Amino acid sequence: VTENPTQPEVNIGLVGHVDHGKTTLVQALSGSWTDKHSEEMKRGISIRLGYADATLRRCPEEEEPECYTVAEHCDEHDVDTEVVREVSFVDAPGHETLMATMLSGAAIMDGAVLVVSATEDVPQAQTEEHLMALDIIGIENVVIAQNKVDLVDRERAQENYRQIQEFVEGTVAEDAPIVPISAQQEVNIDLLIDALEREIPTPERDPTADSRMFVARSFDINKPGTTADSLLGGVVGGSLVQGTLSEDDEIELRPGREVEEGGQSEWQPMETTVRSIQAGGNPVEEASPGGLLGVGTGLDPSYTKGDALAGQVAGEPGTLPPTLEGFEMDVELLDRVVGEDEDEVEEISTGEPLMLTVGTATTVGAVTSARDGECEVSLKRPVCAEPGAKIAINRRVGARWRLIGIGTLKE
Ligand code: GDP
Ligand code: MG
Repeated sequence: VTENPTQPEVNIGLVGHVDHGKTTLVQALSGSWTDKHSEEMKRGISIRLGYADATLRRCPEEEEPECYTVAEHCDEHDVDTEVVREVSFVDAPGHETLMATMLSGAAIMDGAVLVVSATEDVPQAQTEEHLMALDIIGIENVVIAQNKVDLVDRERAQENYRQIQEFVEGTVAEDAPIVPISAQQEVNIDLLIDALEREIPTPERDPTADSRMFVARSFDINKPGTTADSLLGGVVGGSLVQGTLSEDDEIELRPGREVEEGGQSEWQPMETTVRSIQAGGNPVEEASPGGLLGVGTGLDPSYTKGDALAGQVAGEPGTLPPTLEGFEMDVELLDRVVGEDEDEVEEISTGEPLMLTVGTATTVGAVTSARDGECEVSLKRPVCAEPGAKIAINRRVGARWRLIGIGTLKE
């Protein structure tokens, strides 16, 4: 297996309340803007998961933590900096209606930066909801970025710092370092990188296992009006969690697509060939696990446009988990609904609709039976998953879906 030095090896999520500076921080770390979608630009929020690759570096003439930087050159000592680690950042949307996107993004995060603005009281609604999501999904490697410190005085910054400490007590982020930064002014980015290096190690992955990729996005990269003979195949983006993927590999995607046959509709897996792989912004012949990839396939681009394949699983044909139209799960409910109202979470009842996030897939299911601590659901859109998979459970409360608990897929 050839190691490709330019391929990102770890996925770090950016989570937190809207406008607290997630996208600005990704930009400071990667030099690229994740809000590429024009509608996102217009509305000023990250609607879909954005991702950007970054190279974390160090100046060989400096000590930790001051040595850390994203610049290729250390001007102070007039030397080139050394590569520490290639990282993919997953920028989750903070808007309250977009929890589903945040949750499906969490499926591919190896660790997360919780961005908290120093200009507001702690916690704001999605600060709390996102931290709860990290907690129940089991993302334990967390760094807290106390952002916008350039906008507050020392006293306010200290008060906000104490609020953060109090808020994370008893959660997965209890021992997480809190790093005061200004993403916009690029202040303390070195300290933040130092915290990422200490707290979010690259997980061990098995490159010899069957390839398994969680698809988070999919695209049609052709310009309108491209003629049929120059049309490029559909592209899927996501994270290879195990195994390797090479050009010309045959892959299967599950659940695949819905096919109508004699008035009956059925989900059929799709098979295609890997035509190209992009990792860390570069074309590679072989991708090793970790980081985010863009994979060019032989699929008809109409199947991949507009994130149509987000939530699917890709890998070597015949090795993927089964497609499930429904399943049973063990359920652990939160004590109370996270957010402004903080109502107690009532038991799940038969017939109620739930929004379920399984891996990167989000699907709505109807509860067909519910008992103490477990329930059975029938899905509108099937998922590809295996026993033991964690499922984020959301219930409709008023006008929106609220996170109410975590499920574990049963045998
Ligand atoms: P997101 O919704 O969490 O992705 O937040 P954005 O990154 O879009 O930032 C929201 C607004 O806050 C933008 O206008 C940013 O320019 C501004 N902002 C972000 N970080 C900082 C900071 O450190 N200092 C100041 N003064 N403004 C910031
Ligand atoms: Mg954003």
